[in-house]
Amino acid sequence: MANNAPSNNFFADNEDLRWYVDRGVDWAPLVEATEYGFRAPDAMKDVGEAVAFYREVLESVGELSAKYVGAKSSAMDREHPRVEGGAVVEGRAVTEAFEAFRGAELHRLVFPREFGGLNAPLLVYFLAGELIARGDVGAMTHFSFHAGIGMAMLAYSIYEGSTKFDVEGGRIESTRFQKQIEEICRGDAWGCMVITEPDAGSDMARLRTKAEQDRDGTWRISGQKIFITSGHAKYHLVIARTEPSSGDGPGAGLDGLSMFMVQAYEEREDGSVERFVTIDRVEDKLGHNSSVTAALTYDQTPAQLVGNRGDGFKYMLVLMNNARVGVSFEGIGIIEAALRMAREYAEGRRSMGKPIAQHEMIADYLDEMETDLLALRALAVASAYAEETAQKLGILSRFDATLSDHERARLADELPRARARSRRFTPLLKYATSEKAVEHARRCVQIHGGVGYTKEYGAEKLLRDAMVLPIYEGTSQIQSLMAMKDTLNGIVKDPAGFARKSAQCALRARAAQDPLERRVAKIQSLCRAAERSLVAKTAADKLGTVRHLPIGQWKSALSKKWDPKRDFAIAMLHAERLTKMLIDEAICEVLLEQSQRDPARRPILERYLERCEIRCETLLKEITTTGARILAMLAKKEHGDDGASTASSAPSPVSHAAE
Ligand SMILES: Cc1cc2nc3c(=O)[nH]c(=O)nc-3n(C[C@H](O)[C@H](O)[C@H](O)COP(=O)(O)OP(=O)(O)OC[C@H]3O[C@@H](n4cnc5c(N)ncnc54)[C@H](O)[C@@H]3O)c2cc1C
Repeated sequence: MANNAPSNNFFADNEDLRWYVDRGVDWAPLVEATEYGFRAPDAMKDVGEAVAFYREVLESVGELSAKYVGAKSSAMDREHPRVEGGAVVEGRAVTEAFEAFRGAELHRLVFPREFGGLNAPLLVYFLAGELIARGDVGAMTHFSFHAGIGMAMLAYSIYEGSTKFDVEGGRIESTRFQKQIEEICRGDAWGCMVITEPDAGSDMARLRTKAEQDRDGTWRISGQKIFITSGHAKYHLVIARTEPSSGDGPGAGLDGLSMFMVQAYEEREDGSVERFVTIDRVEDKLGHNSSVTAALTYDQTPAQLVGNRGDGFKYMLVLMNNARVGVSFEGIGIIEAALRMAREYAEGRRSMGKPIAQHEMIADYLDEMETDLLALRALAVASAYAEETAQKLGILSRFDATLSDHERARLADELPRARARSRRFTPLLKYATSEKAVEHARRCVQIHGGVGYTKEYGAEKLLRDAMVLPIYEGTSQIQSLMAMKDTLNGIVKDPAGFARKSAQCALRARAAQDPLERRVAKIQSLCRAAERSLVAKTAADKLGTVRHLPIGQWKSALSKKWDPKRDFAIAMLHAERLTKMLIDEAICEVLLEQSQRDPARRPILERYLERCEIRCETLLKEITTTGARILAMLAKKEHGDDGASTASSAPSPVSHAAE
């Protein structure tokens, strides 16, 4: 699907991406939700007009990305940003690319028209992100901290109730952060998300940055934050502690966190700048050099509380869901670039009488890279679609008084389904795209042989850039814990439903008419078997054995008091293996849906199944037969040689990750 010719347009040369715009996406419901039922006078006329506009936007982003990002990516890699006189100075190539984005009004893409935006769906924004990431992933990251933060401000203001809707007109009348949103929309400012501290990354309950209120009611933030992407921003969304940690139990400390909006600096009329946040340094990183990663100090910095005290963690999750989908499209951009680079080289380079692309092993690598790319893009589009549908229908529900019967029916039917699908897919997608970006960027280096290890072709840059993906926006391990916890919790809450679902999979694996559907059902059955094994072992560890009880009796047996520190050990040990199986299941389901709508997609599912059937069987075997030795070793360490517990006050590893 990917061709190897040098490209002037990253959208026009991408057959798979164009398939989504032309046929693969069910645009009508999304456009209707994005245009709020076509209520506003300046709304798009119909779905056709809207989709033609989205295609035009992507063509234009494809051209800009090829010219200003892809062609300049090695300069972006070389020109490290630095701190000078309290501000960050960025490299020339990045600065020029962002001037071009601003000139093309790209920052306006997803904002509502009433704020000066173009009101495109988030899905179009994510696809645009993939195009930029194919050129340079750091540039894409910085791009996403424009509209990403502006739209988060809007979402927060809707959640806290400070946005006023013109219900009849299908428009937003006013919103709390309107001035800031309009500034970001014009491309005059951007934002950042400020969470991580030197002693608190994955474990947010350890965050210590404090927010206190003056007598006059002004909030002030003090503390140190590190690793902040685009931390030279004007607008910071900061998580700070407003209440002391509430003990050591699972999740303790998260409820004392609150969300704040901070303006980091003010431009005075005389041209001087007053700063309220100190940029301590820009990190010197392995890659991702076009993206500023800053360490910041807040010292009695004035801040505005967003939402209620103690809602910070909840609000952060709202932004994170979108951000994780965005990072996933970054990963896909990297895989697209890695595949094209590797294929071009492999077709031109000869060894032992033929191009290396004709050698069996290399042909297999290239085939797997392409299969994964197509499969991951399918999952990413499905996830983005579900997340956006959930968000937009959630907003539509606020137009309650004017809803038509059709809209009410959509809300009742689609909203819960979209929420559940988005919640299920997002951690799987983030894990899969990040890990595969690293794997395939490494393959690209390997296919280049010795020159892959030099800076000549840029293969090593792709690998260096890719390596941050499994770390930021929640590490791969944290995504695995989330996926595992959600899945197993669902079973514990509804074992009869789980048994029913397992039986249906088994039946379809034998009796479905379509052979591809039978094979997908077999993957689903393997996943159910892995889940059954983990739940049974978890329960057996706690209660002696329920493995031999009828499944209907599990609920009462399992509802006894749990100690997450010990009781989930086997599930935590195998969380990543289970996640890999759940990813294969989700991808197969999405590719089957595509195949049923468009038979031209069947070969992609066939290729994916060929690789994932054996993988899932192996993973199931690992889950059901290994792990006892590691757990015994950990138990021994925890209790020390004298048998006394050495970890009694350690927070549960599942506590924060799995919230
Ligand atoms: C380039 C870059 C940009 C970033 N941008 C931002 C940003 O914009 N805003 C922001 O707030 N932060 C940002 N971060 C920080 C990033 O989110 C954290 O680095 C990440 O959450 C991991 O935290 P940590 O580094 O403290 O690692 P730790 O939490 O100390 O984890 C170390 C390792 O232990 C694993 N681990 C931790 N807990 C568990 C567990 N329970 N079970 C199994 N394994 C576990 C982790 O998965 C990881 O592999 C950025 C980081 C980088 C490198």
